[in-house]
Amino acid sequence: MKKKWLIGNWKMHGNLAANKALIASIRAELPELDEGAEMVVCPAFPYLYQLAELTRGTGIGVGVQNVSDHLQGAYTGETSPLMVKELGGSFAIIGHSERRQYQGENDGLMGRKALAAIDAGLIPVICVGETAEERDTGRTHDVLARQLDAAFGYIRTAHDKIVLAYEPRWAIGTGIAATPEIIQAEHEFLRHRVAIRDKDFAARLPIIYGGSVKSANAVSIFSMPDVDGGLIGSAALNATEFVSIYRELLSVVSAAE
Ligand code: PEP
Repeated sequence: MKKKWLIGNWKMHGNLAANKALIASIRAELPELDEGAEMVVCPAFPYLYQLAELTRGTGIGVGVQNVSDHLQGAYTGETSPLMVKELGGSFAIIGHSERRQYQGENDGLMGRKALAAIDAGLIPVICVGETAEERDTGRTHDVLARQLDAAFGYIRTAHDKIVLAYEPRWAIGTGIAATPEIIQAEHEFLRHRVAIRDKDFAARLPIIYGGSVKSANAVSIFSMPDVDGGLIGSAALNATEFVSIYRELLSVVSAAE
């Protein structure tokens, strides 16, 4: 069975003490990860090394929430994916809707960042998703196709080195998740779109959902056939909730076996 993913986006939260306590609580509630599902946490940049140390030998992966589209050079204030790799990171969230919204990131930049991440040996977690207005005016598939094509134009050969995240903007941080039916429909659309380029890649590509996932709705979302896990924001900051979501993901894995 295809591996499942649970990725926590800590956003701009945390501090040295809180991060340590959060990982300790996750470890206390879940001493061993299951091989059926990967767990990854993405702290803010300054805590990357701390998290790499705290999770060493635990199986929990560490990533960042953004990365430069360059590997080195005169790019003041940017962080190279090579630096992320050196400090113990293995993943980079790319194109998160909060970066599109507040930092003006566009599709082309997202594609270049994904490529730089891959070149540095990171796994990009590429986020795509429509706004409420785009959905209401029937443009969801145009938007998803445009975002996906921009990213995949750069990374077409990166088999098994990519996670795709469907994150409708209207569901992020709102407490209102998309329905399982909407999620399945959009994941299926994305997988078909990738299959136009490469069928084998599409079948193996993990597509995870993000947007107000919590333990209460996790099973209904993770049970959808094209959902390979979740990208979790606020619920990732609560160890009990994050571990419950992980366990719900495993329950879906074992029910399918
Ligand atoms: C996110 O930030 O990627 C996210 C999905 O947030 P939340 O779970 O809080 O909606």
